Amino acid sequence: MANIIVVGAGVVGTSVAYRLAQAGAKVTVIEATRVGGGTSGISFAWTNSCNKAPRSYHDLNVAGMQAHAALKEEFGATPWWHGGGRIEWKAEADREDQRAKVGRLQDWGYAAEWIDRKQLAELEPDIDPRAVGDAPIAFYPKDGWLDPVVYAHAMMSAARKLGAALRIQTKVTGLVVEGGKVKGVRSESGEVIGADLVVNCTGRWSNDTIGETAPNVPLAPTVGFLVFTPPVPASIQRVVATPTCDFRPDGAGRLMLHWGPADALVNPEITDRPGTEQAADLVDRLTKILPGIAPVKPEASRVTKRPIPKDGFSAIGPVPGLDGYYVMVTHSGVTLSPALGAIAADEIMRGVARKELADFRPERFFRPARP
Ligand SMILES: Cc1cc2nc3c(=O)[nH]c(=O)nc-3n(C[C@H](O)[C@H](O)[C@H](O)COP(=O)(O)OP(=O)(O)OC[C@H]3O[C@@H](n4cnc5c(N)ncnc54)[C@H](O)[C@@H]3O)c2cc1C
Repeated sequence: MANIIVVGAGVVGTSVAYRLAQAGAKVTVIEATRVGGGTSGISFAWTNSCNKAPRSYHDLNVAGMQAHAALKEEFGATPWWHGGGRIEWKAEADREDQRAKVGRLQDWGYAAEWIDRKQLAELEPDIDPRAVGDAPIAFYPKDGWLDPVVYAHAMMSAARKLGAALRIQTKVTGLVVEGGKVKGVRSESGEVIGADLVVNCTGRWSNDTIGETAPNVPLAPTVGFLVFTPPVPASIQRVVATPTCDFRPDGAGRLMLHWGPADALVNPEITDRPGTEQAADLVDRLTKILPGIAPVKPEASRVTKRPIPKDGFSAIGPVPGLDGYYVMVTHSGVTLSPALGAIAADEIMRGVARKELADFRPERFFRPARP
């Protein structure tokens, strides 16, 4: 029986651990903090393939969306996933791009349509039509969002039922390599934990986890900043993207907000209430769209960095020159994780190379430069 260590218990690590355990591997998941304690716990977590190109990356994200939907049959209920679609309107300057995008998505068979003001009022009656003005409104009915920590816990629990072990509060400091072959990992306490294969799912920390013991996938992380309202009197049911902020439900009447330009204004190194000013500004923006929730102040904000390989695309697979090591680092991991978990487990257990990942191999970062 293959003895496999998965390092990192975010959405990606727990997904692959579950599928590996299901395929008959002896799996140990090693996590520095707690399940979902990394980026997965600070994610807008919109499941989609709305802005993903080229086609192979779009298709991979669609596979992720389909895999989330398919879990319903497998688990009976998937309380961590919420459908309902996504509503989007844009500032005047961005409407031509939006039209082109909707056309492209329709050509690719993606659920994307235009809705009118009456349909918007039926879907989200608390949105003030004055905030939309004369903007065309796009609707993506199959988009949704995830509660990533609940999902990761469910995948980890399912893996444990199949015999997988979980070690939390155990930090990996490097691989143990002998003669070009990985033999296990070393923990912060110096303990060596043996394995035939190690899967590195530590996201933005992927390179810190292995240090010099394996080739590093170059990363270009960006700051992500999320703001949360207290429970508010609004019946928002879906992801809403507007020119001034994006928002979605986050349980018990709370709304989660994100706005791209605010990310750049927040310094993640400042841990004492980062982005207080920006949080107030985002909630202020939200009250212009949902006037019925005012007066309201931010209840919380969270800041982290996204695990993004240098060229923006997923890096999934072995790295050249090192046997027994498989890396999985990606942005959009919330959308992709159930598909990536199943595909990676299939590759690892059957020793095959799945074509869905052909464009997303870590190897692309290690090719020798052309003379
Ligand atoms: C603000 C924001 C918005 C986002 N929005 C979306 C979105 O709308 N849709 C989407 O699909 N994606 C989105 N993402 C991206 C998505 O959240 C990530 O791609 C995903 O969470 C990555 O999951 P992961 O399991 O790879 O990493 P993580 O969740 O970070 O898991 C890695 C785990 O490894 C552990 N770890 C680290 N170092 C070690 C070590 N040395 N030893 C042991 N364990 C270790 C960590 O504690 C952590 O639990 C967003 C991200 C951010 C920040």
